[in-house]
Amino acid sequence: MIPHNRPCITAEDRAAVDAVLASGWIARGPVVAALERALAGLYGAGSACAVSSGTAALYLAIRAIGLEPRSAIAVPSYACVALLNAVHMAGCTPRVLDVRPDTFCIDAHLLPRQAPDARLAIAVHCFGATADVMGLEARGCAVIADCCQSLGGIDADGPSGCHGRAAVFSLYATKIITAGQGGLVWSREPVLIDRIRDYLEFDGRETYAPRFNFQMTDIQAALALSQFERLSGIRNTRARICSRYREALPDGLGVQAATALTGRMMQRFAVVAPDRATRDRLWTHLGDAGIGCAVPIQRFELLHRYLGLDPDDYPASEALADTVISLPLHVGLAEPDIAAVCQALSSFKP
Ligand SMILES: *Cc1c(COP(=O)(O)O)cnc(C)c1O
Repeated sequence: MIPHNRPCITAEDRAAVDAVLASGWIARGPVVAALERALAGLYGAGSACAVSSGTAALYLAIRAIGLEPRSAIAVPSYACVALLNAVHMAGCTPRVLDVRPDTFCIDAHLLPRQAPDARLAIAVHCFGATADVMGLEARGCAVIADCCQSLGGIDADGPSGCHGRAAVFSLYATKIITAGQGGLVWSREPVLIDRIRDYLEFDGRETYAPRFNFQMTDIQAALALSQFERLSGIRNTRARICSRYREALPDGLGVQAATALTGRMMQRFAVVAPDRATRDRLWTHLGDAGIGCAVPIQRFELLHRYLGLDPDDYPASEALADTVISLPLHVGLAEPDIAAVCQALSSFKP
C-alpha cells in the first residue's frame, strides 16, 4: 500500500536530535529558542513561542488575546475538533460558520448571520489554502490564523499567517514538518508572545498565578528545526507531485481552489467528487490499486454536528464531508508511487 502520509526524517534530522541527547540538556532550552527565532525570521517581524501542541498553541493564543469569559469565537465547521477543544478550554463559546465550497475555508460573509456576537475568529488555512482573514477583520472580528496545515506557504503579500493577530502551527506527525507532537505561536505583537511565555514558565515564580506546563522540549525542537530549514524544498516537492496528480485527474472530478497556486503549501491534495456515491467508488478504485487515501473530515466529525446544530445551516461543509478524498502526499513518495497514483486516477470513470 502506498501510504497516504509519512513523516520524512533524514539523517541530518537524526543527527540534530542526537546532538541534543548528547548535550545533557533535553528539556526546554537553547534549541527551543533557536526554533522560535527561525519562525520569527520567516516573517521578518514579531516573535514566536514554541509549545507542546497545535491545540495548546490555539488555547494560548486565545488566552493571550484576553477576551471576557464566555466570549463567542467563530470557527469553521469543516475543521478538526481541536478548535472546539481550545475554545472550550479557554472558557469561551464556539460559534460555528459554514465554509466556502471552493477554498474549504471559513466563509466571512456568514459572520453577521452565524456569529453576530463573535469578536474573534479562528481561520483555518484548510489543507494549505488561504482563508479570508481580511474579510473577517473587515466585519469586526480579530483573527487567529490557524496555519497548522499551511506552514511554509507563501501568500500574495507574505508568509501564510502574516495577517491576523496571531498565527498558530502544529508539529504533529501528519503535518508539513513534525516533532511527533508540538506547536508554535507567532505574533507581530510581542506582548501576546510575552503573555504566552509567562503562562508557560510556571516554576520558581515569586508570586502565584495559575499557569501550566505546555512547554516543548529541545529534543522536539531539534527535530522540528532541522526540518524547518528544508521548508521551501518540501513546498516545491509537494507542488511537483500535485501538478502530476492534477494532470492525471479525469474530467468529472474537481479539486480544492488554489490547488496549483504558486507558493501555496499543499498539505493535502483534495479531490472533490460530484456526489457521495462517486467518492465512495473512487475510494474503492484507489484502494484496489494499493493507494492509501483518506477522507479528511467525515460527516460526524463536522463541528456543527458535534455541537448538535442543524446540518441544513451548513450545506457546504456537509457536501465536502461527503465528496472529498485525499491522495497520498508526502516528500517520501518515489516516482513509481506517483506514477501509480496517476495511473489509477486517470483510469477512473466518474
Ligand atoms: C492538527 C491541527 C490542529 C491541532 O494540532 P495538534 O498539534 O494535533 O494539537 C489544529 N488545527 C488544525 C487546522 C490542525 O490541522
